[in-house]
Amino acid sequence: MNKNLKGNVNSKILVIGCFHGDEPQGKYLIDEYLKIKPNTQLLFIPCLNEYGFIHNTRTNSNGVDLNRNFPTKNWILSEKDNFYGGESPASEEETKFIIDIIEKNEPDLILTLHAPYKVVNYDGNAEEISEKISEIMHYPVEKSIGYPTPGSFGTWAGIERNLPTITLELDEECPMEELKEPVFKVFELLENQSTNAI
Ligand SMILES: [Zn+2]
Repeated sequence: MNKNLKGNVNSKILVIGCFHGDEPQGKYLIDEYLKIKPNTQLLFIPCLNEYGFIHNTRTNSNGVDLNRNFPTKNWILSEKDNFYGGESPASEEETKFIIDIIEKNEPDLILTLHAPYKVVNYDGNAEEISEKISEIMHYPVEKSIGYPTPGSFGTWAGIERNLPTITLELDEECPMEELKEPVFKVFELLENQSTNAI
């Protein structure tokens, strides 16, 4: 928790878009939201994987799936396919950037935007807020358990650091403009969460 100069206690919420470059919804929605809410309380990283976004690839410029590159206990040296975890844990600049942001800002909650599975996934203590997001999006909630995602961000942040981490998998068949209404409601929910916490 962060005490600001006025003595209020706000929680810090980090929202990350475009872990995977071929999932442009996150960047689009964050950019659009910032146009109407420039004074947001949320910390946004609109597009983590810029190379992938420009080239429409899941992986970054080194062919690494950033969501398999985090230095978790279960990181493995994997095949060089679309889920390649890199030559070593946190080998990628984007991964180091996220770790640095989190270590410096110590967020209380993290939301990452993905596609296409239409589900609200969470790691760590984020069940209550995930249920609220599920009601807004009409996607089911699923706690991530045992699914083999070595080196994933959710495992690194949610399971190994106990940082409440939500993975919102958006519907890729829904036009992005139509995602604005529900996803902006999710952002508003997080805005309220960030100022009303404690
Ligand atoms: Zn993804």
